[in-house]
Amino acid sequence: MPLVSSPNIHGQVTELNKTLRRAGVSFKGQRVLVTGGSGFLGSWICDVLVLQDAEVVCIDNFSSGHPSNIEHLRGKRNFNLIEHDITKPIELDGNFDLVMHLASRASPLEFASFPIQILKANTLGIWVALGIAKRHESRFLFTSTSEVYGNPTEGNVPTAENYNGNINPIGLRGCYDEAKRCGEAFVFAYHRQHGLDTRIARIFNTYGPRLRAGDTYGRVVSRFVSQALRSKSITIFGDGRQTRSFLYVTDQVEGLLRLAAFPNLTGQVINIGSEEEIRIIELAQLIKRLTESNSPITFLPLPVDDPVRRCPDISRAREYLKWSPSTKLDEGLKMTAEWFKGCSLN
Ligand code: UDP
Repeated sequence: MPLVSSPNIHGQVTELNKTLRRAGVSFKGQRVLVTGGSGFLGSWICDVLVLQDAEVVCIDNFSSGHPSNIEHLRGKRNFNLIEHDITKPIELDGNFDLVMHLASRASPLEFASFPIQILKANTLGIWVALGIAKRHESRFLFTSTSEVYGNPTEGNVPTAENYNGNINPIGLRGCYDEAKRCGEAFVFAYHRQHGLDTRIARIFNTYGPRLRAGDTYGRVVSRFVSQALRSKSITIFGDGRQTRSFLYVTDQVEGLLRLAAFPNLTGQVINIGSEEEIRIIELAQLIKRLTESNSPITFLPLPVDDPVRRCPDISRAREYLKWSPSTKLDEGLKMTAEWFKGCSLN
């Protein structure tokens, strides 16, 4: 069974749109380019922009994004899909008001299999996307990551934007962490040298419907939820004492669109994530309880360089975006589980 866009998602997009409108965030009539628009976050962003009556151009090569995430948008008059690898230059007609660069594989399980593609998407890919923004004099938003902080040293969790990171450039995660750091450097180069209006979001762990669960694509929430629903072993890497903070997808998209829309944020770098830090073992137990699953819990080796703690300081997001998360973890996990019940557990 293919992944489907369930009514559950349509309802949530509609609610999110109302929240954004109340905050004065509207892209109506704007022309927006979304690279990675068929991915987990990209497709939610396309949904909101299309609903707001923006003209959306989505570029994707479906390397990790799933075509079914945007199937329902195909054929809409204000949605255009260009199947293209953003690491290769492309000429686009018309003017863009905003370019959002999301294209990249993001799952740690892919770091061993696709390190070159990951490096290219966040270096060559961002160079191509910035070139488009420069030609069209568009605003530019880059979805960077908490991974630019690597494994924060003691005293640096919760992590604020002025922390410079603790990263192993030649480790297995280096392809992602260093590529995103290079992407940020590219953004600032265009900001300083060409005066481009740029914004960087540092995204912390985000989950929800459309987060792929299978094989190399899988992130911890989608893997645990699909394992719990199928009564399969829940696979904890290491002893499960490592922490993460999980943000529900609509909260993330709201933060990103506020950052893209608000005036006077040029050159800003802002963490967008949840402050609710939780151990991975507690996450497994919570998911088991919420899904009423009898899955056993198994312990597998911890991947190399897996960060010990991750939690953002979101003071800047509160101040500049007037934003903070609104979905509690158990509510978000229930909505995620509902969605996974209705689609193939890929
Ligand atoms: N993890 C786990 N079991 C899994 C997948 C992930 O215990 O099946 C752990 C992983 O080692 C990490 C955390 O969950 O400590 C979050 O992993 P994820 O792949 O979602 O992303 P990360 O935060 O590491 O980028």
